[in-house]
Amino acid sequence: MLDVLRRITQEVNAATHLDEALAIVVRRVREEMAVDACSIYLVDEADNHYVLMATDGLRQTAVGQIRLGLQEGLVGLVGERRELINLENASQHPRYRHFPETGEERFQAFIGVPVIHYRRVVGVLVAQQWATRSFSEDEVALLFTIAAQLGGVISAGLRGGGVSRLRGGKKQRNVVIDGIAGAPGIAVGTVVLPSPLANLESVPDRKADDIEEEEALFRAAVAALEKELLENSARLERLLPMDARQIFDFYRLLLSDEGVVSDTVARIRTGHWAAGALRDTILEHARIFERMEDNYLQVRAEDIRGIGRRLLMYLQSKDWKLKSYPKQCILMGEEISAARIADVPVGQLAGIVCTHGSVVSHTAILARALGIPAVMGLGALSIGNLEGSEMVVDGYHGRVIIQPTRVMRAEFQRLVKSARKLSVELEALRHLPAETPDSTRIALYANTGLLSDIAPSLESGAEGVGLYRTEFAFMVRESFPSEEEQYQVYRTFLESFAPQPVTMRTLDIGGDKTLPYFPIEEENTFMGWRGIRLMLDHPEIFLTQLRAMLRANAGMENLRILLPMISRYQEVDEARALLERAYRDLQEERQPATMPPLGAMLEVPAALYQIETLARRVDFFSIGTNDLTQYLLAVDRSNAHVASLYDSLHPAVLNAIYEGVQRSHRCAKPISVCGEIAGDPLGVILLLGMGVDALSVAAPSIPRVKWVIRAFTQNHARELLKQVLSMEDPTEIRQFLRGTLEEVGLGALMQSVK
Ligand code: PEP
Ligand code: MG
Repeated sequence: MLDVLRRITQEVNAATHLDEALAIVVRRVREEMAVDACSIYLVDEADNHYVLMATDGLRQTAVGQIRLGLQEGLVGLVGERRELINLENASQHPRYRHFPETGEERFQAFIGVPVIHYRRVVGVLVAQQWATRSFSEDEVALLFTIAAQLGGVISAGLRGGGVSRLRGGKKQRNVVIDGIAGAPGIAVGTVVLPSPLANLESVPDRKADDIEEEEALFRAAVAALEKELLENSARLERLLPMDARQIFDFYRLLLSDEGVVSDTVARIRTGHWAAGALRDTILEHARIFERMEDNYLQVRAEDIRGIGRRLLMYLQSKDWKLKSYPKQCILMGEEISAARIADVPVGQLAGIVCTHGSVVSHTAILARALGIPAVMGLGALSIGNLEGSEMVVDGYHGRVIIQPTRVMRAEFQRLVKSARKLSVELEALRHLPAETPDSTRIALYANTGLLSDIAPSLESGAEGVGLYRTEFAFMVRESFPSEEEQYQVYRTFLESFAPQPVTMRTLDIGGDKTLPYFPIEEENTFMGWRGIRLMLDHPEIFLTQLRAMLRANAGMENLRILLPMISRYQEVDEARALLERAYRDLQEERQPATMPPLGAMLEVPAALYQIETLARRVDFFSIGTNDLTQYLLAVDRSNAHVASLYDSLHPAVLNAIYEGVQRSHRCAKPISVCGEIAGDPLGVILLLGMGVDALSVAAPSIPRVKWVIRAFTQNHARELLKQVLSMEDPTEIRQFLRGTLEEVGLGALMQSVK
């Protein structure tokens, strides 16, 4: 059965449209179970009905026409009960309904399985037999397993227009899709899908701008691949046995004019861009092979996909360079890397939208630093056909609106105006200190990552940099920067802010921050080789960075070094030893250097409970609430599926932060918070009450954080904290704090509060 399942799954995943995927399922299930009909009904949320969307066995004219209420018939019963219903003789059942339009006879055997995606019934998969029949356990298991896998496919296919779009084939307007607020602000622009197309299945639909040019591009890719194959085959001739070499001959055969090439060219000539035409051709050819009885030929389907991927790679290397961007560009993809963001010309990037990720994934953090509205975690959504669509990105509420109507667009433009008005009001605070009405000063620093952050940070009124994420500069490159290159960047930062402090965090790669030139293959990246662990295993990379930092600090003396992901005191000892070594080496080389203060991030819960031990080894602490939240709550910070469980205002997180602040103060060590909670007005009230010494936030958030600090006395904040710590539910905490903001007249900030 596994074999059958695997084949069906492969075919379904290769389908480029939902209706195609559904057609594959019903056909294959009918074949495998030898039933008279297999059909799929989907829930049309527009009017709460099931609609027959695909069938093999019933009349095709019934597709899209047969509609049942959610409580109607056996299909409705499957959905209501959310469980499999298996009836040998269905016509006896009180919920039995007969639809003559389907051409079905009065059937007897019925088996229906709900298709569920994240607790929601999205459809029902049904197999029917005109005669009585009992289905075997294997058949039941097959149907059940297919239905379980279908949930994601159906949800992805329906988002961005629902069942009606699928039926009408027309792009709907004002399609609202909810995600997670990633970075505040509103943008209206044109969608660009820039992600490197790792696989054929994710190649978007796109019209060819110039058919001849697309054909030429494709033919050049074919020629390049032919050359590569010839070279490989010649090189391996003496090393490989004959049958292993046959694969190259098979590849070459596929590239001959009769197959892949001519079909792709034919598709290009009907107006498709080369990559899309290639995708459809390869998937079609692969399917033909997959359906063959002969095992050897079935396996060749994978070779066809392999050829497709290689051709795509050649196509992409050209296509990427040619890309031109719309004036108001909305970058959209599963994830958007720092490098892709850097590719868009300055001033043209209006918004960022990711189907994956959450508020603390690094794309969102980067977007906030750049002041670009972002929506994350849209979840399953087939985005291939969104290229070129107009879209509103509402980074305040975490939603996008595809193809907005004129009225909708005007409404959002009004919101953009009021947000601008708010920022003008906040602007007035720029030169005022971050001081409570009862004269408690909180140092307010900026979080930075790229050189382009310097100007906005300085303009925002930040008193220095509380967290410089050095890895971002590494992420937009194609190889490790040299010591000299790093020196130049660090020097610019230190000079720009001097004499104010700049806290540079040593390289924190791993997790969701990977370097294209240093791949880390891990199952569980956030729990794995990350931050300080990786640096201590690669002292050559670490020492280069430390030397560059120390050299850049010469004559400036405003550098502070911060170590990420500390979970054991030995990591601090080893890091300090390397720092001292870098310092000694520089002295021996007669290069000026001084030892900067060294701090540890408190972001792994273990560190929080060893503050006393760590305090003997470091000069300051900084709480990284983004990671602390994910590790305390066991919720992957960039996994959209569990994003609703990720909450830095969870009582466990608040208690942990508070305990960290108290323990650190008992050791007479200053402590700051540099996670995203420090930029959330609700979080600021609590951190103020806890008595943190400094906050470090994205530059665009500095004015509003200052506004909150200037509106609450520390006593008032302490009082509020006490009340919050007695609450059990984050929703209650949020509501309470929002009410408090309203009371002190900061209601306008609510627009930017989740
Ligand atoms: C944190 O974890 O809170 C933090 C500030 O670091 P990063 O978000 O870069 O992991
Ligand atoms: Mg962190």
